[in-house]
Amino acid sequence: MELYITSLNSGSNGNCYYVGNKQEAVLVDVGLSCRETEKRMGRLGLTMEKVKAIFVSHEHSDHISGIPVLAKKYNLPVYITPDTRHNIRLTWEGISIFPFQAYEPVKIGELSINGFPKFHDAADPHSFVISYEGINVGVFTDIGSSCKHLIRHFSQCHAAFLETNYDDDLLEQGYYPLHLKRRIRGNKGHLSNKQALDLFLTYKPDFMSHLLLAHLSKENNCPKLVKELFTLHAANTEVVVASRYAETPVYTITTSGYAVTRPIVEPVIVKASKKPKRPKVDPMQYSLF
Ligand SMILES: [Zn+2]
Ligand SMILES: [Zn+2]
Repeated sequence: MELYITSLNSGSNGNCYYVGNKQEAVLVDVGLSCRETEKRMGRLGLTMEKVKAIFVSHEHSDHISGIPVLAKKYNLPVYITPDTRHNIRLTWEGISIFPFQAYEPVKIGELSINGFPKFHDAADPHSFVISYEGINVGVFTDIGSSCKHLIRHFSQCHAAFLETNYDDDLLEQGYYPLHLKRRIRGNKGHLSNKQALDLFLTYKPDFMSHLLLAHLSKENNCPKLVKELFTLHAANTEVVVASRYAETPVYTITTSGYAVTRPIVEPVIVKASKKPKRPKVDPMQYSLF
């Protein structure tokens, strides 16, 4: 039994995470345009026909901007909490919306998707664990601090997308105004490299085969630095940085605990100028994050 995972994009310019088995898949957040989502999946040999639902973590535009077009085109149900939905100024016309509640897993075919609350500057933010035949994959981004919910779920994951948003020194020395630095560092902001590393070192289960470092800040982080930092302590876990500009390869996750990496194709670097246009949705875009 296997789960296939990839980050189609990760960062304040757009997030979209794919988790699926041989028959069906879900997307957690769609912050890419429909066309870009299709293009990146196509390069990986993944098809939208397998995608059966979209789960929404919170209302920030880097997580939702592509949902209306994609959901309508493929007739995909969107699972979202009522409070998150009420804070989104997108048109939901023609889209099937389903509410979900923390700790009430939703079944999509053979996949089970369990949402749980997290600390973040949003109305009703949730993280997710997607499970299939005893394999657990976590999607843990946009988190101000690692709470007991996160710890419990992280320690059960065979693979996880884990936020490493900023390096303390780069943020401190950077040009962001003080109030923004405080918000990023705050309890409802984002996880630093150090906070994520503490979680990883303390609670990583032996069977975690893949750690995908996610939602890196463009200004306040360095992919090379954070990859080295985690790899140093990773033991048998394969450490991957999820890019702000391209998809990762597809990783195969099993219960064996051994890293099995079978990229379908090499990731293609997309030029920054080709970034998808996003509709202006909400003044609270937090795009600097
Ligand atoms: Zn975000
Ligand atoms: Zn956010």
